[in-house]
Amino acid sequence: MSSHKLIIGNWKMNPSTLEDAKRIAKRTRTVAARLAHTEVVVCPPFPFIVAASSRKPSANFHIGAQSVSIEEGGAHTGEVGASMLKNLGAEYVIAGHSEQRASGDTDETVSKKIARILESGMTAIVCVGEKSRDENGGHFEFLKNQIKGSFTGIAEDKVKHIVIAYEPVWAIGAKEAMVPSDVNEMSIFVKKTFADIFGAEAGLKLKVLYGGAVNFRNAGEIVRSGRVDGLLVGRESVNMPGFVELLKAVDEVG
Ligand code: PEP
Repeated sequence: MSSHKLIIGNWKMNPSTLEDAKRIAKRTRTVAARLAHTEVVVCPPFPFIVAASSRKPSANFHIGAQSVSIEEGGAHTGEVGASMLKNLGAEYVIAGHSEQRASGDTDETVSKKIARILESGMTAIVCVGEKSRDENGGHFEFLKNQIKGSFTGIAEDKVKHIVIAYEPVWAIGAKEAMVPSDVNEMSIFVKKTFADIFGAEAGLKLKVLYGGAVNFRNAGEIVRSGRVDGLLVGRESVNMPGFVELLKAVDEVG
């Protein structure tokens, strides 16, 4: 189970109707149940979380959320708390997605969100990634600082409930994904940086996913040659049958 690949479907602000949300979730659930080496997490917009969940336990299928408030509860109009998400059946929550960082989330906000997610007994999917790359390797320094900042104050005994999604911002929503050899290099760098903060064992156990322009054509190769523990998939996760093909391709990697 722990060596299973993890595929996160980040629906973003899609689809526009409840009917479509139910249809996409049902199709994903059905396919997930047939996978042998892969766990699937769908992260719908908040209003569709209940509809996307299954009433009965469903093999290899989990519900996640795309973000969470840093607050516990009370007078915070428009916010959604971690305990509410847990109560709806969410097992995973994304923190630090670049689209949320672009709307104002700082490393400090991200670390507070991670703390809320972990306190509520869910797994945090923490997104990190550079905006651009340069020949001098400035992206390594950027990434190291972002990881250190995002995990400030997180207790060592909680880190088994953290997954990192390495998502170079320039690849999100783009036409082309990062080449697998670079994905492999960055995944190793993320694990090493995590190990520097939380110790060698935590670094070894950490699951690192890749995200950015993944589709059914490139997914298998990114997982195989990029040697990542899974993928964070945006657009393709609401595109049927593309997502079904993507799940099958990753499952074949074994
Ligand atoms: C994402 O939403 O994090 C993402 C990687 O999007 P896309 O797969 O559409 O590039």
